[in-house]
Amino acid sequence: MEKSKEPPKYSDPPPGWTPAKNYEAEMEQPIVYTVAQPPVGPTPCRMVCPSCRADILTDLKRESTTKTHLMAVLMFVLFCWPCVCLPYCMDSCQNANHYCPNCNAFIGTYQS
Ligand SMILES: [Zn+2]
Repeated sequence: MEKSKEPPKYSDPPPGWTPAKNYEAEMEQPIVYTVAQPPVGPTPCRMVCPSCRADILTDLKRESTTKTHLMAVLMFVLFCWPCVCLPYCMDSCQNANHYCPNCNAFIGTYQS
């Protein structure tokens, strides 16, 4: 007696198949650094200024980002209004812009 082979189930992804959500997560990866930007951190960095070639300690200026505002909205929804100001006080929710103290050239941004 010959038993017919079961047709492959198309609803099941083959092993090793990457689900679509992983692909989306990959697409959402923001490009933080360009090639020209030196690696900068959340604290002032000692480096040679790409603009005036001076040996400098970068001037750090923090800037609120979209993430900061989103966190503020989240705080408002989840907790209460006094928490709204929290993201604006948290370093991790803000960009750190590095400037040259010598020539005021913009060096790079650190995004946490
Ligand atoms: Zn400079």
